[in-house]
Amino acid sequence: MSDEYRVALEQACALALAFHGSRASRSPSATASFEELWAALNGSTPEDGMVAHEVIRQLAEGADAGLMGAAGPRSFAKVTGGSHPVGVAADWLTSVWGQNGGSYLGSPANAVTEQVAARWLLDLLSLPADCSIGFTTGATMASFVCLAAARGKVLRQAGWNADADGLFGAPAINVCIGNDAHATIFAALRYLGLGHNRVIRIPTDDVGRMQVAALSSALASHEGPLIVIAQAGQINTGAFDPFSEIADVVHRHGGWLHVDGAFGLWARASPGLIHLTAGIEHADSWAVDGHKWLQVPHDCGYAIVRDAQAHRQAMAFEASYLPPGGGACREPFHYVPELSRRARGFATWALIRALGRSGIAAMIEQHCRLARRMAERLASEPGVEILNQVELNQFVVQFGSGESPECRDQLTKAVVERIQAAGVCYVGEAVWRDRLVMRFSVISWATTQQDIDQSADSIVAAWRQVSAGIIRGRSER
Ligand SMILES: *Cc1c(COP(=O)(O)O)cnc(C)c1O
Repeated sequence: MSDEYRVALEQACALALAFHGSRASRSPSATASFEELWAALNGSTPEDGMVAHEVIRQLAEGADAGLMGAAGPRSFAKVTGGSHPVGVAADWLTSVWGQNGGSYLGSPANAVTEQVAARWLLDLLSLPADCSIGFTTGATMASFVCLAAARGKVLRQAGWNADADGLFGAPAINVCIGNDAHATIFAALRYLGLGHNRVIRIPTDDVGRMQVAALSSALASHEGPLIVIAQAGQINTGAFDPFSEIADVVHRHGGWLHVDGAFGLWARASPGLIHLTAGIEHADSWAVDGHKWLQVPHDCGYAIVRDAQAHRQAMAFEASYLPPGGGACREPFHYVPELSRRARGFATWALIRALGRSGIAAMIEQHCRLARRMAERLASEPGVEILNQVELNQFVVQFGSGESPECRDQLTKAVVERIQAAGVCYVGEAVWRDRLVMRFSVISWATTQQDIDQSADSIVAAWRQVSAGIIRGRSER
């Protein structure tokens, strides 16, 4: 390697180590405005090159104040993992190796690593060992892949080959989905020509679980192709649909049951939590993320399909320069839409190897414990209302109980802004049952009990400041 490139790689390594060392003390969110970042990174189109290490220095300097603290220990707004160092190390090698993860020819090492990791995933998630897995960019694309397999299969059962002939003239597919499904499922349906508006929305209960009686009555006079989409881990409450009963209803009607388990499917990796997912093994496909609870660096998701042939029929294609597949080795591109792509097997393999079954279970259980600890601390504070029982690792909370609904929304917004300005932890807003809430999710490997307690102090202080403001406002009136 030329000295110039060696220096650039060494510099990236030094910058990465410095960043890693300061994760816990850095601001948990970006500190620069759009304008500041634009000024730091913009310039006229480069006419000539620049020495490599200087490029890397400028990039790191320009990006620094715009980096979110997702890899740090006190980032609770999004349900994303914390880019675990073992995954990062594997990811560095993935980039340096420059493998094309699309096919066995492109990278025998990745193809085999994905095949091993896929087996490990099915074992950890207690799903049937003969399911097929596609390595995607995330749960959105994992659901897209699973639903493509579903669409092909339910239409073939109705005598229509959608993969060959498309959807024009095809029998209609009824798609049923819980009213509190994740927004990305509707996007996946749209990409597949199933439309995000023509779905049948099934009412849910107070924590967002699909109501089986409502599903049954929606299907009472149903005939023809059917896809039902359930959820493991509602984004606000962490709730799980009643899978056993849903699977019974769906299969009685000859339908395909897909489960969006972006983070919640990981409850299956914990002996203490697996009961929450009871019956989920009867589904026909599952979408789950690697970059959420498994802590794989972005981007990584898994599309898991029980009927491997339906999975391949939806995704595989032939080309003169590619081997037809078959034999002992799985062809990565038979299970996802992409051909050339990042070799995602390495980071997944490394993280499962590093944490092991017991480490993954312990981490997930710890996050659920820490979420409960935070909820209990906040609930003990007058004027704070936790809106759901903490079943998993997340909950939603509103500030200002006893005030009018509009006032509670405003107070909650004000508290979130104060927490963000204080810079101890990062939380965000969400809307739940028409109420503006603060959502709190514990999902990073880096979060400790001390981080939770320190963050609780900051949240409570923000609420006390805001509520002191209301009391002052009243006495001045
Ligand atoms: C995060 C999430 C998704 C989307 O996953 P991406 O990895 O962002 O594509 C879908 N469903 C649920 C429940 C999620 O939490």
